Amino acid sequence: MEDSGKKYKIFIDGTFIDASSKEVIDVINPATSELFGQVPSCSPEDVKKAICSCKAAQEKWRKTPAFERGNYLKKIAKEINNNVDILALTIAKEQGKTLKQARGETLCAAELLEYHAEWARRIEGEIIPSDDENENILLYREPIGVVACILPWNFPLYVLARKLGPALITGNTVVLKPSSDTPCSALEFAKILEKIELPKGVVNVITGKGSVTGKEISENPNVGFVTVTGSVSTGQKIMQSCATNITKVSLELGGKAPAIIMDDADVDLAVAAITGSRVSNAGQVCSCVERVYVQKGVAELFLKKITTAMEAVTYGNGVEKPDSVMGCLINHEAVNTVHAMVKKAIEQGAKLLTGGEIPKIRGAFYPPTVLANCSNQMEIMREEIFGPVLPIMVFETVDQALELANDCKFGLTSTLYTKNYNTVLKFSNDIQFGELYINRKQSEAYQGFHAGWKQSGIGGDDGKHGMEEYLKTRVVYMKY
Ligand code: NAD
Repeated sequence: MEDSGKKYKIFIDGTFIDASSKEVIDVINPATSELFGQVPSCSPEDVKKAICSCKAAQEKWRKTPAFERGNYLKKIAKEINNNVDILALTIAKEQGKTLKQARGETLCAAELLEYHAEWARRIEGEIIPSDDENENILLYREPIGVVACILPWNFPLYVLARKLGPALITGNTVVLKPSSDTPCSALEFAKILEKIELPKGVVNVITGKGSVTGKEISENPNVGFVTVTGSVSTGQKIMQSCATNITKVSLELGGKAPAIIMDDADVDLAVAAITGSRVSNAGQVCSCVERVYVQKGVAELFLKKITTAMEAVTYGNGVEKPDSVMGCLINHEAVNTVHAMVKKAIEQGAKLLTGGEIPKIRGAFYPPTVLANCSNQMEIMREEIFGPVLPIMVFETVDQALELANDCKFGLTSTLYTKNYNTVLKFSNDIQFGELYINRKQSEAYQGFHAGWKQSGIGGDDGKHGMEEYLKTRVVYMKY
């Protein structure tokens, strides 16, 4: 067992307490396969307790001026920065990303909360002209009430901040449920809430299995909004649970982002951005490039350069070997799933250019892998891989590229490399994805709007539009 294999408690009503359930979840460091920590597997009773605490705190929090709520967010952000070492180490050990990436995630989480604090003086209602004389129509914007944030394991702290910031600034109270793979960082984060003396019950953190704890949260009648980031199958289950009470739901689900490289593209830029995207977090990012379409005239050059770039990516235990570019996958099951997809693609005619073998080292590692000769019928071009594997297909015309990119059940992010104005406009108008990056790397801005089309989800995160998801309206007709 690692020295930090400690037992965590849940955070309810401003205090760390034992869960009523004695069942625990082991958190394994995927880079070493050793036990890292243990958290409670919360029962429905624990869930009810957390939600009661949120409900009791909400009215006072709603009436706290938004400016003061923003000050709490700033305090939390400051303490995240002060505790970056412990938070980053916790993320790296429970999730397997490199310490450098975990530090980056932690600092971005703080910056994101600062961004949301800035909304304090900008959440406004509206005055609507009436059809009648002597009448005012006012539209108020109100918090929804109790918000449940159900989190994935790939960016445990960043996604936590992405949901917590807008939920709190708009006056909601929050129950956080981290993934059972990465719950320790959320409970380390809760120590910050205790330290800054956030009013009791404004944020509760409970841990447990999705099928028990998560389900109970989504079915609870006192929860007004469930916002989840996770897989499509989980999104479907949560939607069904939310149907019980017609609870509002926001689903940030999977992606299968295409990158299109035209003959006139800056190939070096595309190679650097796509490599960075595909190996970031070991390829376990909803928005990272999952498939590449390269135009015939530049295909040979691109394939040569991308293979060299992917081969140069170092990987290893990102805590012990901090210079590694890439860490490991979330667990061995994920390695086996990724490898099975690669083997199937090769059987179907894909050509392996690099990688493709599970390395004989400790931990859940998979090498950067490039597959050429792929086609849109292959599973590897249609289903989320969630690993550092790049399948590539050659195309001839702009229309063909657009059709191939859109031929997909997901619709989260997409990328285009070209210098041609007409191609840029065509894609901007007709791509069926919530985001299109042109001649840049694949990453969204705090002030943008990260929202998927098709099976990638409902609703969205970030920016003004993401923040407004956490509000409801009341229209008052005032006759005099
Ligand atoms: P997951 O679906 O396994 O779990 C997500 C969360 O849902 C976890 O906290 C889990 O415990 C909970 N959960 C599972 N079943 C539940 C149920 N029946 N009721 C309530 N809660 C339940 O997802 P994951 O494996 O942690 O994350 C990876 C997935 O997330 C990938 O598909 C990735 O593309 C997606 N993702 C999407 C975005 C986005 O912004 N669209 C961002 C990051 C990750």
